Amino acid sequence: MESIVGHLVIDRVLGLLFPRFCLRCGREGTAWCAGCAASFAPLPPVARCPFCERTGSWRSCADCRENTYLDGLVAVAPYGNAIVREALTAWKYHSDPEMGRVVDLWIRQAAATRDAFSFPSGATVTHLPLHASRRRHRGFDQAEEVARSFAAAYGGSLRTLLVRTSATAPQALRAAGDRMVGDLDGTFAAAGEVPRKVILCDDVCTSGATMDAAAKALKDAGAEVVWGFAVARGSHP
Ligand SMILES: [Zn+2]
Ligand SMILES: [Zn+2]
Repeated sequence: MESIVGHLVIDRVLGLLFPRFCLRCGREGTAWCAGCAASFAPLPPVARCPFCERTGSWRSCADCRENTYLDGLVAVAPYGNAIVREALTAWKYHSDPEMGRVVDLWIRQAAATRDAFSFPSGATVTHLPLHASRRRHRGFDQAEEVARSFAAAYGGSLRTLLVRTSATAPQALRAAGDRMVGDLDGTFAAAGEVPRKVILCDDVCTSGATMDAAAKALKDAGAEVVWGFAVARGSHP
């Protein structure tokens, strides 16, 4: 209790020293003002194959399905949306809880309104884990928070199903957007028994290589259907 009061006091003091400005309209006081919360929801991205970006469906296309494991991917917004990108960056690199609440709101708005959320019913929600050392350094795992918001909005049960077995695979030294499917295989392993249907959450999905490596680990451990969910998707970082 004491620490909550302490945090509130610190928040108040920081607010006086470093006033916040709304990410969208610039109004002073908060990082996301009530007016913008009521009037703005990010536009959804065009439905595309998560790998080759062929349009028409959120499902992985027939060509890509031959050598990939992820069955499809749904996102809240394209990575080209500057407001969404800025919110994710501020949240990740400054551990800004206010941005976390904004992203949570967008996830709930998207889950409530988007019929494109044609996920398998009864799926278990999980996240792409950070390596333990990186999680310690950052203090929280953004993908885990995304999974928590998504599970609350979607109604699925939330479980940790994966561990990251290496901090960085040697092939992963390429920029995230240039990674190829298969580059990151072996980066993840199942943490235990895996349910039949899984929805895998991350903050950003670029080439689909990371999601696919995680989907492979889940399917190797017995999952039959693995869909992805990301806040932002796009091929450029
Ligand atoms: Zn605003
Ligand atoms: Zn494709």
